[in-house]
Amino acid sequence: MENEARYEVTALCESPDSRGMSLNEYQQCALETAVYPEEYNIVYPALGMAGEAGEVADKVKKVIRDGNADFSPVKCEEIAMEIGDVMWYCAVLADRIGYKLDTIGRMNHRKLKSRQLRGKLGGSGDNR
Ligand SMILES: [Mg+2]
Repeated sequence: MENEARYEVTALCESPDSRGMSLNEYQQCALETAVYPEEYNIVYPALGMAGEAGEVADKVKKVIRDGNADFSPVKCEEIAMEIGDVMWYCAVLADRIGYKLDTIGRMNHRKLKSRQLRGKLGGSGDNR
């Protein structure tokens, strides 16, 4: 039953007749549920993002440890749900520092495309 419910969520969200959602639209939805102490406007979502990223890593780890590295559809959906939690915090944090999520997406794409064109995708350093 639990597995069926999970698949229903994925199926609903992947429905071919559902329209796409822009990053800005998602950010607006996230902000509608952003309820936490105002004095931690930036720190709260930053910490939440790190925590949820840890949950993603933990789900992946447990698939390896307990599931013989079988990334079944159920496990992938569990991981996807955690990725969504990371996204929520990203969307809220972006807003709190004055950015639209679409803008950050474009900034990141531009940075990575530039690195790719210059043969700098590998290596390290923020400004390569
Ligand atoms: Mg979570």
